[in-house]
Amino acid sequence: MKKHLLLCTLLLSAIAAHTQESRSDETPLRPHAASQPHLPCLHDLAVEQMEAQFPGYKRHVAQVIQTAVTARRAKTTNEEIYTIPVVVHVVWKSPEENIPEENIEAQIRVLNEAYRRQNPDTVNTRDIFLPVVGDAKIEFVLTDVIRVQTNEFFQPTFTFSGTTLPDKVKRSAQGGSDAVDPVHHLNIWVCAIRPLTILGNQSPILGYAYPPADLPHWPAGASAPSLDLEGVVVDYRVVGDSLSYNAYGLGPLPMRGRTTVHEVGHYLGLRHISGDGLLAILGVPDCDADDGVEDTPQQGRQSQFDCNQTQNTCDEGAGDLPDMIENYMDYSRETCQNSFTMGQIEIMRAVLEGPRSGLIDQVMSSAPTLAAAAGGTVFPNPSGGLFQLNVQEHIGAYVFSVTDLYGRTLLPPQAGLPQQRIDLSGYPAGLYYLQVKPAVGMRWTAKLLLR
Ligand SMILES: [Zn+2]
Repeated sequence: MKKHLLLCTLLLSAIAAHTQESRSDETPLRPHAASQPHLPCLHDLAVEQMEAQFPGYKRHVAQVIQTAVTARRAKTTNEEIYTIPVVVHVVWKSPEENIPEENIEAQIRVLNEAYRRQNPDTVNTRDIFLPVVGDAKIEFVLTDVIRVQTNEFFQPTFTFSGTTLPDKVKRSAQGGSDAVDPVHHLNIWVCAIRPLTILGNQSPILGYAYPPADLPHWPAGASAPSLDLEGVVVDYRVVGDSLSYNAYGLGPLPMRGRTTVHEVGHYLGLRHISGDGLLAILGVPDCDADDGVEDTPQQGRQSQFDCNQTQNTCDEGAGDLPDMIENYMDYSRETCQNSFTMGQIEIMRAVLEGPRSGLIDQVMSSAPTLAAAAGGTVFPNPSGGLFQLNVQEHIGAYVFSVTDLYGRTLLPPQAGLPQQRIDLSGYPAGLYYLQVKPAVGMRWTAKLLLR
């Protein structure tokens, strides 16, 4: 469906990346702006910021993703389910920003549903897109929630020489919360993001994320972005599964946790579905811009928080598809987003097998040999209720905990014995996660399958 070869489009789209968020910030200049403001996610400003600081960053990221996709295509397709450990940092100033635990649990559930295509509203995907959408086979397990009270404001600022992102939310010394082992965890910071003001116009910001960079292979002195900045930042008002956000000029918008789904998509290498063309700044669909994904329809601009199924910004003649408002990487209303395409899934899985492979390295899945490599075994697995965790002596002191698929705690962190019995009798059959944190050495996670 795409006009260009993947390599070209990745590079072109990266080079042309002063994009969605920066354009959307200029939305108030457009005639219909009052009725159609954007709620930008700042991903592309994050990219621009890195490019300004480290010239060549965008090109490097595009190359890393392309290398990963090429490597993935050369291999036998791997259908393994990848599990990403998630740490949520709630950095709050006023009490409403200190969001309740149930919103975080709901958010993890929304992520799991979206990346397994188990969200109930997949029935709303139009038939024309059913051949290209799929199950990313990526799951998320909440391993920790860190709450930090702060006196800081988190304010992105725009000047013509560059945009400053509120990355201080990621640093304790600056009133935020330090990342937890970002090689092996997806860190999600939740805070009040202040609106971005450009030329006197305010634009609310829902979140932002940096795309992957091949950190270990950066030349000395150019190791950007710094590892402690990896992760996703989202506004506290959109974390959960059933919220409403009062957007400028649009009244309350229903929010279903898909902002975080979208930002995690950026974190795993996806661009906006419209390709973020420069012409769209002027409100003109830019059909030459591309997102580097072969099976998304050509789309000239973002769907501005509507669910218009007749919208088709780039008509390419016979066989052309309309704009894909169902896509998580569009800016359609969250109640009509329900899908990733197989092309998008290929990029995200390639990123997990390449530049972000640390995220899935430490998850031992149910393979006993892998768990043994980390110094422990679990058996029987599956089990009817009783599991035996054997930890090798050299591991020493450790704590273990068990959560369900959505991060809800079944067994809180507690000291473990070298031969530790884990009793899940009485819990519903299903998949659970055992986290093992040695006092020294790598923490690891095992899946427990309860029959
Ligand atoms: Zn975005």
